Amino acid sequence: MTQILDGKKVAADLRESIKAFIQKKQISPHLVVFLTHSNPASSIYVKNKLTACAEVGMRTTLIEQPASSEAELTKLLASYATNKDVDGILIQLPLHQNIDTKYVLQQIPPEKDVDGLHPINLGKLVQADPSGFIPCTPLGICTLLDAYKIPIRGKHVVIIGRSITVGKPLALLLSQKGKDATVTLAHTATEHLEELCSSADIIVAAAGTPNLITPPMVKKTTTIIDVGINRVEGKIVGDVDPSVYQLCAAISPVPGGVGPMTIASLLQNTLKGYLAYH
Ligand code: NAD
Repeated sequence: MTQILDGKKVAADLRESIKAFIQKKQISPHLVVFLTHSNPASSIYVKNKLTACAEVGMRTTLIEQPASSEAELTKLLASYATNKDVDGILIQLPLHQNIDTKYVLQQIPPEKDVDGLHPINLGKLVQADPSGFIPCTPLGICTLLDAYKIPIRGKHVVIIGRSITVGKPLALLLSQKGKDATVTLAHTATEHLEELCSSADIIVAAAGTPNLITPPMVKKTTTIIDVGINRVEGKIVGDVDPSVYQLCAAISPVPGGVGPMTIASLLQNTLKGYLAYH
């Protein structure tokens, strides 16, 4: 029987432990979220993040104001960047097409960069320096694998997708000393993807392509982490063909897998930001 990696449950447990810690210590970490580019998916993600924060006893401030230039956004950011009462800053992506995302992310002080996308935090990830913030989705995937005690050491992990928010940082994280996976990072130019996947112990599908993972790519022993969020005929689906579910050892479903883990990781990072400076 295929094991379902229930991200909803693992995330709920993690949120409970964060809430208990916050209550016990009588603290209230503060996250500021910037929503500057109108997009229905972004609005839903932001709402979910703010709700999750409130449920564990964190304070939030939502700055919902359109910005279509770096100068505008940097100006909005400035007072929060220096405010000692702000523990975490998150700029919801994507930004307006005229804005250089890399530039804006560099304006967040690294010690408040709870999304872990500032070059300093990405650099710390390369160095395996635990003082940095790890991007929320890769962090959540590792927590989910750990919760189900999925062996990683020495295993071949094929990650499909090389984005800065998911694939690349996850490849760094899983190949670190201590995790010790052997990672193949696949992307649109990768040849023989089917062959690569069929030799994997763990497949992480983070391409945003429905039905990308098909039966010939998996074995009975494969663990699959489905990161994809695709809207198909009004339904949210992942990157894994539904026929694969019966054929693998374990799989994280969409919805209810990586999504809730990403949000729980944001809470973890915000608490980490608070604790580092209090
Ligand atoms: P992205 O578009 O930035 O990157 C996608 C990557 O996949 C690219 O590197 C591309 O080379 C690769 N790719 C695309 N199609 C491919 C194919 N057919 N074969 C091989 N490689 C292919 O996307 P992203 O931001 O990394 O997100 C990926 C998916 O994960 C999206 O569906 C996104 O919605 C979802 N996502 C989910 C969560 C979550 O919390 N569940 C978080 C972030 C992203």
